[in-house]
Amino acid sequence: MAFTLSCCNSLFLHNQHVKVSNHVSNNNNHLKSVKNLVLSTGVPSIATPPQESLQKGNWVKLICGASFEDVVDIRNMSLVYTLAGGTLCYYAADASVVSAVNEGIEAAMNIVSLRRPWVMISVNDDEDLHFRKAAFDPSECPLDCSRPCEAVCPANAIALKKGESLEGGVINERCYGCGRCLPVCPYDKIKAVTYLRDAVSTAQLVRRTDVDAIEIHTNGRQTDSFKEFWNGMGDSVSHLRLVAISLPDVGEATTTLMNTMFSVMKPNLSCYNLWQLDGRPMSGDIGRGATREVLAFAVRLAAAEDKPPGNSEDGILNEDIPGSSESSLIGGIAYGGYARKIVGRILRSMQSQHGLAYIEDCPVYLSEALREALALVGSVKCYTHLGVHQE
Ligand code: SF4
Ligand code: SF4
Repeated sequence: MAFTLSCCNSLFLHNQHVKVSNHVSNNNNHLKSVKNLVLSTGVPSIATPPQESLQKGNWVKLICGASFEDVVDIRNMSLVYTLAGGTLCYYAADASVVSAVNEGIEAAMNIVSLRRPWVMISVNDDEDLHFRKAAFDPSECPLDCSRPCEAVCPANAIALKKGESLEGGVINERCYGCGRCLPVCPYDKIKAVTYLRDAVSTAQLVRRTDVDAIEIHTNGRQTDSFKEFWNGMGDSVSHLRLVAISLPDVGEATTTLMNTMFSVMKPNLSCYNLWQLDGRPMSGDIGRGATREVLAFAVRLAAAEDKPPGNSEDGILNEDIPGSSESSLIGGIAYGGYARKIVGRILRSMQSQHGLAYIEDCPVYLSEALREALALVGSVKCYTHLGVHQE
């Protein structure tokens, strides 16, 4: 009996060993394919350093969301978009999020030797649509509600279960405040809760060696809160490589607003600065026409003579970049919801099979996600060889 058991055990162990060995060897082969795909697409040679990308007009920013804090997805998305040659990744200003981002970037660089993208954290100086979360008490929802909130959420951030009352609700770290669920609730139960990032904890993050850039969202109504925030960060700004100011279109007053903010920053601004033009904040989520509006905004500002120095993701000449005589009018593109959607779909599918896995441990999914990301980033970076490589 003991022998049989022992024999069965060793046979079982042997089979397991063979399975594990096959699995490891299959994974290694798939990871080699991933590496070959990145190399054959030409990512290492085409993906230039971030400052050069701005100058050439092929800056690609992955917007993971100022309020999106799901560290598992964030790590995996950072890995995928680093492999795809993204120039900069932009995240919530939170220590665990920053660690997850850098872990994803490191994992990507262990697969292929690539230039490290810059990591940007996102903060606000006042109320801003990017800094809000949906909230509701599910016990107040009618049991027979068809739950349109759950269906409409692009981030799978609402999960409800029927018990004696509805249970669950908004998964806070996944909600990025897009606002889609607010109008669909037939009982008006969902509220938006806004919040502010404070200057002191932002300064602590900025001092980390793995944070390269900051984006400060401003609402264009006044500049006092911007001044307060900037001054509150003290000398931590000297650790930055880039400061981006996100501002909406406030018409004729836009350049005055920019000049005032620039004069606040100037005394201790020792890095690149960038104006991120946000024609209609969060508008990609709630309506069409956002791209046209932001381009019109960029063209108008590019022509303005009284604008302050700095580059723009959307169209102002790169006056601060060395060698800017060859600067592109359009510095680059920032992708948000769409970039998350195409990779997020594959992450969901992977998680349904393997739970909260590292994507490099499931290289078939990594390969699929990478192809999506390469197609998106490659449309800006001009990856001409995309799709030629055969596994
Ligand atoms: S629909 Fe948007 S605002 Fe509502 S829970 Fe989902 S991510 Fe948050
Ligand atoms: S749609 Fe409104 S009432 Fe229905 S489950 Fe969602 S929050 Fe509750």
